[in-house]
Amino acid sequence: MLLTGWGRYPTVTSQVTAPGNVDALTKQLPAYPSGTCLIPRGAGRSYGDSALAEQVVSSRFLDNFIALDADNLRISCGAGVTLAEVLRLCVPQGLFPPVLPGTKHISMGGAIAADIHGKNHHVDGTFCDHVESISLALASGELVHCSRSENSELFHATCGGMGLTGVIVEARLKLAKVSSVSINTESIAAANLKESLTLLNEHNEKKYVVAWVDCLARGAALGRGIIHCGDHSDAGELRHRESSSIGVPFTTPGLLLNRVTMATFNNLYFNRHSWAKGARQQYYDKFFFPLDSIRNWNRLYGSRGFLQYQFVLPDESAESGLTEILGAVSSAGKGSFLAVLKRFGAANENLLSFPRAGLTLTLDFKFEPSLLSLLDELDAMVLAHGGRLYLAKDARMSEAVFKQSYPNWEAFKAIKDRVDPDGLFASMQSNRLGLSGADMGSSTA
Ligand SMILES: Cc1cc2nc3c(=O)[nH]c(=O)nc-3n(C[C@H](O)[C@H](O)[C@H](O)COP(=O)(O)OP(=O)(O)OC[C@H]3O[C@@H](n4cnc5c(N)ncnc54)[C@H](O)[C@@H]3O)c2cc1C
Repeated sequence: MLLTGWGRYPTVTSQVTAPGNVDALTKQLPAYPSGTCLIPRGAGRSYGDSALAEQVVSSRFLDNFIALDADNLRISCGAGVTLAEVLRLCVPQGLFPPVLPGTKHISMGGAIAADIHGKNHHVDGTFCDHVESISLALASGELVHCSRSENSELFHATCGGMGLTGVIVEARLKLAKVSSVSINTESIAAANLKESLTLLNEHNEKKYVVAWVDCLARGAALGRGIIHCGDHSDAGELRHRESSSIGVPFTTPGLLLNRVTMATFNNLYFNRHSWAKGARQQYYDKFFFPLDSIRNWNRLYGSRGFLQYQFVLPDESAESGLTEILGAVSSAGKGSFLAVLKRFGAANENLLSFPRAGLTLTLDFKFEPSLLSLLDELDAMVLAHGGRLYLAKDARMSEAVFKQSYPNWEAFKAIKDRVDPDGLFASMQSNRLGLSGADMGSSTA
């Protein structure tokens, strides 16, 4: 079947299998002929080609809850369980995943493999910082239990390891306690990048902080934005309710997204939030997952799809680097609706984990061939400022850029080679980045 990531670029022909149970999985893995490229896939919400390969093993059959220990704030479940399912079970009991991304429709396995971050990295770290243990099916078919004290090297390679060490089968996660489904939020307008950065710093003690940046603004308004802060409210109830959503029924012509429509949207967004600034209460779902209210919003970018570009820059070079990068994006007229700026706290021990202390900016770009040269230019700026790109969003970074910016890649590769000597686990991305075998020939851009 034809398969893509959330960005719908690139497209690859894959054979997708879904074993009936863990036993079938562990028998299936060692039976693949040598030279096979196989990658686990969760909910397919990574944007690029990290969950694409000629053979894909879907984790959706691992959809079982194993235990919820409300007293000790722990949940154990299969790796195919989604965060939406975890929230549905946990929220009515006053329990909450400590780290949430911008969509709830991702699997536990995908959250661990990408070591995802939320709006609270500066306070709570990454998702995997709260994962106590995992069980992993290796290429040999062996099931291995990994934690910080047991098979710890493999644990730190698999957390953030983009599915390249094996198939995560189960995980045990620490939860946080909440007493309400409401989030106390506050929105503040910033007139330019300097003000956006100052406000992010000033609100660094708040639990959840994120800034929307108008990446089409130029001159004195370059980097203007809205800072959104939030924390769990003590007031209110614990009743979970499903949020409604509207769908994009078909792929819209990519022409609808151009500089004029995006600038109009950005102006409307900026003005609306500038007027409606101040404190209010929001249902948690609306605060964490605003994009989930539009199903298949990725179709808005047209049939050629889009690329999401997320990088982090260390604090010392963040302001100059962001000014340079936003200037290049704005001059190229290729900005996006969704430019999101967040502060990261310190990096963890996971070998390929993306976050490190500094600022991270996320940009969406409609795919067009001329985009690729702009992104190569941005890569050079990111590297020059000591930063790196997020693997869960990437579909085109070069091996050289990756290896220069992920200094632990050799340590990772050594562990991967030990547990997967024939290189069974490989994605289009890992082949491109030099973490596994040869280039796949069957992709179509
Ligand atoms: C709207 C939106 C908002 C997002 N916001 C954020 C955000 O705020 N922060 C953030 O960090 N990310 C964010 N993401 C990215 C997303 O959280 C990650 O890409 C995540 O990995 C997706 O999980 P998935 O289950 O869809 O995995 P997939 O996309 O299916 O796979 C992603 C990677 O995980 C591996 N994998 C999946 N399941 C397993 C398994 N069982 N065992 C081993 N490896 C496995 C795959 O091989 C692949 O390398 C966002 C994505 C979207 C679409």
